Amino acid sequence: MIHCKEPFSLYIHIPYCISKCPYCDFNSHVVAEIPERNYTDALLRELEHYDNSDNWRGRTVQSIFFGGGTPSTFKPSSIGNILEQISTAFPLESDCEITLEANPGTVDGTNFPGYRDAGVNRISVGIQSFQPRLLKFLGRVHTADEGRKALDVVRQAGFADFSFDLIFANPGQTLAELEADLNVALEYRPPHLSAYNLTFEEGTPFHHEYRSGRLRSLTEDEEIAMAELIEQTFFAAGLQRYEISNYALPGCHSRHNMNYWQNGDYLGIGAGAHSYLRAASGFMFGTRWSNEKSPGRYMAAIADAGIAVTDREELDRIKAAGEFLFLGLRMTRGVSSEAFSSRFGKSPADFYPKIKIWIEADLMEETKGFLRLTHRGLLLANSIFVEFM
Ligand code: SF4
Repeated sequence: MIHCKEPFSLYIHIPYCISKCPYCDFNSHVVAEIPERNYTDALLRELEHYDNSDNWRGRTVQSIFFGGGTPSTFKPSSIGNILEQISTAFPLESDCEITLEANPGTVDGTNFPGYRDAGVNRISVGIQSFQPRLLKFLGRVHTADEGRKALDVVRQAGFADFSFDLIFANPGQTLAELEADLNVALEYRPPHLSAYNLTFEEGTPFHHEYRSGRLRSLTEDEEIAMAELIEQTFFAAGLQRYEISNYALPGCHSRHNMNYWQNGDYLGIGAGAHSYLRAASGFMFGTRWSNEKSPGRYMAAIADAGIAVTDREELDRIKAAGEFLFLGLRMTRGVSSEAFSSRFGKSPADFYPKIKIWIEADLMEETKGFLRLTHRGLLLANSIFVEFM
């Protein structure tokens, strides 16, 4: 039994979408009718379970994130009920960040004031592109105009804190197309932006097309040129890169995601949601678990037992140290060498001798007690991270 009083983050998974994007490997499902009421009831019941758990009871919530799937398929009243239950179960920090992900295809002018009134204070919109050709290629249900309209609605509803996602390095995409996307993005003066390069994840239609040679990825040089254009354009607009794919005005970074990268505790509620408790016990350095992925089986398990956990993993020292580094090195400020040493008994370079080679190769650097990826290292981050897994 572990008693920790540190604040934690809460993730709520809404697994339903209007259609499935061909690149998506998230736990998202398209159904004839979304069982909003039953699924909301299951979330409330699961929350009740953790309210009674020694690991979480009485701890303060620092951020809440409704992710998916498409949380904006749910009515403000359902989101409000969930938030009410959370605040009954746990104390919320006075400036608790409460984010809801929205798909422009589900945005209308009535829901967003409702989400705000329910307590949501940050919206993250899946824009992906403002180019009709690319939206069609990505299989998005929204048009470029609907994307723009969604951002107008979010701002008119009074959300000063909002973010949106862009996807780059699409097959055939030109630098000029990317530049056009970045320019439109900046017209909205977003306090936060995420830019992800397209990947072909196993099990997705895009992966199948890629394997059969019908889809060709950009060359590494083309991807690097795009990543550099993004960083320069956003930097000129005052948006600092604080994580590999995330940019923010000073003070506007995502607290919820920072908690993941800083190895903080989080509780995931809903189908397929993941949780993590970092407290050490015995020889273990943390525990992670995940819920049943199928929404139907998740609801059945909750109705039956109040929980729906299917996988649990205890992290040993080596695994926990690797995670600490590959998550922390995603942030441009890097990881505190002192924090690493006090948790794992050795400096990062003594734990992973390869770090010295990467420092010599100008892929990493150590400044003011923080180990971080250099500009070149950030461009090649994935090939470094596999070494920690
Ligand atoms: S809207 Fe998002 S979660 Fe849903 S299928 Fe598309 S990428 Fe996946």
